[in-house]
Amino acid sequence: MKTSFESLNLSPELLGVVDQMGYTEPSQIQAAAIPILLAGDDVIGQSKTGSGKTAAFALPILQEVDLDNREVQALVLCPTRELSAQVAREFRKLARAHSGLSVIEVVGGQPSRPQREALERGVHVVIGTPGRVQDFLQRRVLEVHDLRTVVLDEADRMLDMGFGEDVGRILKSLPHKRQTVLFSATFPDSIESISRKYQNQPYRITVETPKQELDHILQVQLVAHPDKHLQALVWALKKYPHESALVFCNFKSSVADVVDHLGHAGVSIERLDGDLDQFHRDQVLARFRNGSVRILVATDVAGRGLDVKDLDLVVNLELPSQPEIYLHRIGRTGRAGERGCAVSITSHRDDKRLRTAAQLTGHSLDIIEPNLDQAGPLPVQLASIAGSAPMATILISGGRKDRIRPGDIVGALTGQAGNLRGDQLGKIEVQDRLSYVAVTREQAPAAVKSLNAGRIKKKKFRATLVG
Ligand code: ADP
Ligand code: MG
Repeated sequence: MKTSFESLNLSPELLGVVDQMGYTEPSQIQAAAIPILLAGDDVIGQSKTGSGKTAAFALPILQEVDLDNREVQALVLCPTRELSAQVAREFRKLARAHSGLSVIEVVGGQPSRPQREALERGVHVVIGTPGRVQDFLQRRVLEVHDLRTVVLDEADRMLDMGFGEDVGRILKSLPHKRQTVLFSATFPDSIESISRKYQNQPYRITVETPKQELDHILQVQLVAHPDKHLQALVWALKKYPHESALVFCNFKSSVADVVDHLGHAGVSIERLDGDLDQFHRDQVLARFRNGSVRILVATDVAGRGLDVKDLDLVVNLELPSQPEIYLHRIGRTGRAGERGCAVSITSHRDDKRLRTAAQLTGHSLDIIEPNLDQAGPLPVQLASIAGSAPMATILISGGRKDRIRPGDIVGALTGQAGNLRGDQLGKIEVQDRLSYVAVTREQAPAAVKSLNAGRIKKKKFRATLVG
């Protein structure tokens, strides 16, 4: 029998919110974790990307938060800035019935002053990256005497990124009597050790990826000489038609290499790695989500946990070190019964790592050794996959804080004001201080003009075409 949200001991307000968000039933991890977290117990949990872990910890935090006490009551640690931003976004959506709730991000790579000032005004929930959080704790900018819950989201990634020491210091400085929640895709010894050291009789929840979910994914192994992996990638991009594809590499240098080669040939491709600043990472993701960028090349660290739907192709240009990560990567395609394709490029037919990983999926691999010499020179092949994405993205210099809603942007672009037809308009993402809107590529210049000439909510905003 399926669990309903009603059976999870959530307050009527929160039940109303999940209903408004269109969540008809809790995901498995939510059904398992929410009652335990509401009871105040520790959890160490695992489930795949996209399974709703954010709400699994956010709803119990929201239910327990004391709005009258403007002290930090919950801390969520995430490995990267944009995962923090994503968690904060989801958190704020779920907090719509909690007026007055203050959720702030404490993350590196940005001036610390606005974050410090927000903390001085008093906040209830802090979401952040370990470096900056530890720094604030040490300097007593962040006070945690009323903290009740700490969440380590994507804990294994956090340790992989070298945040182990910061995380340890942070956990040590939190009140002893508290709830410690740990979500991780894998449970290596380092995670088990954190759990032993800092958790109190945690419940372990593991949601296996049902094997039939991988039924829709065609798993392919492409065998190519190490010098020809880039050609193999191009071959795969050509062979498996896609609206949007995610290419995984293990190193930033490989990401840069791929994007350089393909980008110069006019392929719609962008990179996502730890070196990109916050603004550009946000921008790249928004463009990928709305169809303005077709191919995204990412490292696991940058690609993990990102909420990107509808991928029809995932390529492992380099194989991940752990089989669980293979599952995570390929599970990003073939969602909701759609067909997907996962291509892994290897140098040898008999690649033990890939075989082990594929065994975990319970499905077989198609092994292909393409004759890359016959495929012709790289520039020729590239020319055949080059071509711009169907949509283009316009950045508008205003967002939620300016009281802009998606409907206002539709209004400014269609009808008398903008002359665009509804079907020339794509996804609209309104963020705090800026918005992204996708329009068909041909209409984009005219749309920018009309936005700059007109007003939204009676105010002037700057519109820029960002590609
Ligand atoms: P994870 O952290 O496990 O990768 P997220 O928390 O980012 O997953 O959630 C992925 C997406 O699923 C989000 O867009 C979220 O709004 C949505 N979601 C979460 N819970 C539910 C639910 N019960 N029903 C439908 N959608 C949900
Ligand atoms: Mg997540």
